[in-house]
Amino acid sequence: MRRFTYVALPSRVVFGAGMIAQLPAELEALGAKRALVLSTPGRGSSVRRIAGSLGERLAGIYDGAVMHVPVEVAEEARRTAREVGADCCVAVGGGSTIGLGKAIALTSGLPVVAVPTTYSGSEMTTILGMTEAGIKKTQRDPGVLPKAVIYDPELTIGLPAAISAASGMNAIAHCVEALYAHDGNPINTILAEEGMRALASALPQIVADPGNLEARSEALYGAWLAGVSFATVGMALHHKLCHVLGGTWNLPHAETHSVVLPHAARYNRDAAPDAMARIARALNAPDAPAGLWDLEQRLGLKMALRDLGMPESGLERAAKIATSSPYPNPRAVEYAAVLELLRGAFSGQRPRA
Ligand code: NAD
Repeated sequence: MRRFTYVALPSRVVFGAGMIAQLPAELEALGAKRALVLSTPGRGSSVRRIAGSLGERLAGIYDGAVMHVPVEVAEEARRTAREVGADCCVAVGGGSTIGLGKAIALTSGLPVVAVPTTYSGSEMTTILGMTEAGIKKTQRDPGVLPKAVIYDPELTIGLPAAISAASGMNAIAHCVEALYAHDGNPINTILAEEGMRALASALPQIVADPGNLEARSEALYGAWLAGVSFATVGMALHHKLCHVLGGTWNLPHAETHSVVLPHAARYNRDAAPDAMARIARALNAPDAPAGLWDLEQRLGLKMALRDLGMPESGLERAAKIATSSPYPNPRAVEYAAVLELLRGAFSGQRPRA
């Protein structure tokens, strides 16, 4: 019999090609008069175009966002926000930039308008990860949730195929864990399956032709659903492993998700049959873990942790950290079995069907 608790986060989403033109109206609706625009370095021309559309509402641009929000970067961006008298932030970019917007919101209360240009899904969550002295800490705070999100697929056309594929698999990982979350519910389940279906169909088209606007739109739609589906449920073994590998060995975020996912799904396969049936259906594959691996190979992604810079000598330590304070997971989290999972991910072998 069904038994669940359902929680929805307040969010406002504006979606569609060309919808970035709505940014001034979104700021108006928030009553914001001085926006600090955030980005990663190197996204200059695209971000300047967007910033330029704000006219007198533009307070400044801070383009120093980096992965995992180091506290020093957060402090510098907060100082910039104070110096320019910002009353809101516009985060244009992927999870790194949106994370920086959340870090500013955490201490200042400034509202964030997110303009996602990858498929990380961060814009839909209250989760903020920051790093201090190389250690990543994650917290949830309702105050960091962006007040409005503009998804414009035209802004993702320039996202290179390899980053698109890895980021898309990061989104699919959110869907996978939402489907077997210990505190899942029927709405999030529907969103996760539909998000995965959209991403799995769009990503191969994007890799074949990064300029395919229709596929870009479908992937961004899938990323939105992926973000919503996992925002209010607990993460499990897959996300735990990725946090350990990313935090301790500094492996690249989205690529690590991609490599680990088929192996984490294989670990949980027999303990989460309903989730696996939905994953297989969304991928149009006979077996969920092997289907995820096959999709990644088709996308030309790196398939092995050893190709991401993980030292083989670190696998035992990673298994120890991941099993010492595990997240709730469908199958019991045990050292020997997790080590075997990591060995499979290290060598990149196809999970047994
Ligand atoms: P990212 O934001 O670091 O972006 C990856 C690269 O792509 C960067 O070099 C960026 O400049 C570039 N880029 C972004 N958009 C582009 C575009 N349209 N065209 C060309 N280049 C573009 O990577 P990400 O994977 O989106 O985010 C990773 C970070 O997000 C990690 O720190 C991760 O922990 C965090 N994250 C947080 C959540 C959450 O809920 N809090 C969820 C997922 C990821």
